[in-house]
Amino acid sequence: MDLGIEGRRALVCAASKGLGRGCAEALAREGVDVMICARTETEVARAAAEIGAAAGRRVGWVACDITTAEGRAAALAACPAPDILVNNAGGPPPGDFHDWDRDAWIRALDANMLTPIELIKATIDAMVVRGFGRIVNITSSAVKAPIDTLGLSNGARSGLTGFVAGLARKVVRHNVTINNLLPGPFETDRLRANFASLAKAGGKSLEEVRQARINANPAKRFGDPAEFGAACAYLCSVHAGYIAGQNILLDGGAYPGTF
Ligand code: NAD
Repeated sequence: MDLGIEGRRALVCAASKGLGRGCAEALAREGVDVMICARTETEVARAAAEIGAAAGRRVGWVACDITTAEGRAAALAACPAPDILVNNAGGPPPGDFHDWDRDAWIRALDANMLTPIELIKATIDAMVVRGFGRIVNITSSAVKAPIDTLGLSNGARSGLTGFVAGLARKVVRHNVTINNLLPGPFETDRLRANFASLAKAGGKSLEEVRQARINANPAKRFGDPAEFGAACAYLCSVHAGYIAGQNILLDGGAYPGTF
């Protein structure tokens, strides 16, 4: 299927590895002019070169912390008028809510709720004027089914979800869509770090924790960031203009509900 987005401009946040990178790879393959960001210059530059080489086109990069005002300004200076915005940032740390003070909550809200909202605010009006825009927020399956140790994520991402549910209905008539992709377990560094903390807390080995998670998933495997990227690219395509304000789970069927 031709996704019809060749030559469109995309800003893909937090994309030197993992799910963001999967999205950048899929969009670059479709001929999109992709700008990626991540914090470490050497890593983001290398990722851009690798993604570009695989897609046969130049991929831009900017080294910045997207959760800061300066970082967002740098990303937007590098890609001032994206047609496609993929919002992503590192997830909050796991833990027990008794240990989280106001600062911990503000950090989580900044990274996983207010940063995407700021980037949407900076880019969406121009999308409306151009009559095309696709915004995809990488959130988490925790929005549908809270994850015990990830209370900061459960809370901050639900706040973002509630906000964009309203905004998505205001802009879809201009062919601007906002949707959320909710990853279950995908094989990335983030997942491996979560296993490490679960293993430590439960007195188990990393491999025991990993195998238990695989066994518990109906697909009997973890997701591949390339699968995640393909779903993102479809949501960004010309064919997806009637999909608005949705929360789409990619979790191998792990969420047990019928709907
Ligand atoms: P990852 O650790 O593999 O990759 C994260 C990427 O974001 C890296 O490129 C990193 O450099 C970049 N990054 C992190 N913080 C940044 C910042 N402040 N500014 C700029 N770049 C930054 O993680 P991932 O697994 O791809 O996860 C992406 C998001 O999806 C996270 O918010 C994570 O919590 C969430 N998530 C992941 C899973 C999973 O199974 N992998 C499941 C649910 C939710």
